[in-house]
Amino acid sequence: MRRFGLLGDPVAHSLSPVMYRAAFDHMGVRAVGRAMRELASTGGGNVTVPHKEEAARLADRLLPAAERTGACNCFWKDANDRIVGDNTDVGGFLAAVREIDGLSLSGARVLLLGAGGGARAVAVACAEAGAAEIEVRNRTPGRAERLIADLELASVARVSLPTASPGGRYDLVVNATRVGLTRRDPLPIALPGLRIRFAFDLVYSRDGTAWTRHAGDEGIPALDGLTMLVHQGLLSLELWLDAEALPVGLKERMLGAVGARRNTGPSG
Ligand code: NAP
Repeated sequence: MRRFGLLGDPVAHSLSPVMYRAAFDHMGVRAVGRAMRELASTGGGNVTVPHKEEAARLADRLLPAAERTGACNCFWKDANDRIVGDNTDVGGFLAAVREIDGLSLSGARVLLLGAGGGARAVAVACAEAGAAEIEVRNRTPGRAERLIADLELASVARVSLPTASPGGRYDLVVNATRVGLTRRDPLPIALPGLRIRFAFDLVYSRDGTAWTRHAGDEGIPALDGLTMLVHQGLLSLELWLDAEALPVGLKERMLGAVGARRNTGPSG
């Protein structure tokens, strides 16, 4: 028996358990729900806010995306009993962006809201995909400065103050703050007046996010964090298990699992 866990705070909103259960069911693997919530002692697991940086420090060995971001969201033990850490948010974000018709990160101008672990993954992904400019705007501007310095992105990224009105035209605005996690939250940024082509919210909920609905109302194509969640989950499964042996239809099964919950909603 192998165990996989999810660490985070808050974690109650997470759709990861239902998503992985659908994946394990589809593979014919018996996954025990309780075991998925426990810290993996012999299998592996995902890590979410706010433990990703600490997980990167605790891992014995980091794969390039975790090394680059300084954040680990996926871990397992290797044959030598060493804990290996990776960051599947980077690849998950890139895979989700590839699903947006008409958006290429190559040469793109990106407004990145937030400077935490998720924002670090997005910044690395955008830079590695060839973004022309990444404007990082965070409630605490010093953290945005640290993100750019730590990730050595000074040639492509700059800080914009949260009080300044964003100018120009953006190909993509990404919300990588926690704003939107609760229903009482304000919008991470108002979109009227901004000239943007696409909006991407790392936050997800079963009902979609207020910000992506707001984007839709403004005629801006928007994707919430569910697609990225599923893609980073698929990458995690490839790292934990035999990637070659994963069955076809897994992504659709996982999307269906989180999408179904999203459509029915907690009270519906
Ligand atoms: P984090 O490291 O704790 O960073 C939180 C960020 O949110 C910081 O930039 C913080 O700004 C900002 N923030 C928090 N409260 C705020 C407020 N009231 N007003 C303005 N800014 C605020 O968290 P994280 O790991 O980056 O995660 C951020 C979000 O992305 C979470 O909702 C997480 O669930 C989501 N996420 C989704 C996926 C996915 O697969 N869809 C993957 C990763 C993360 P300060 O620096 O000023 O505190």
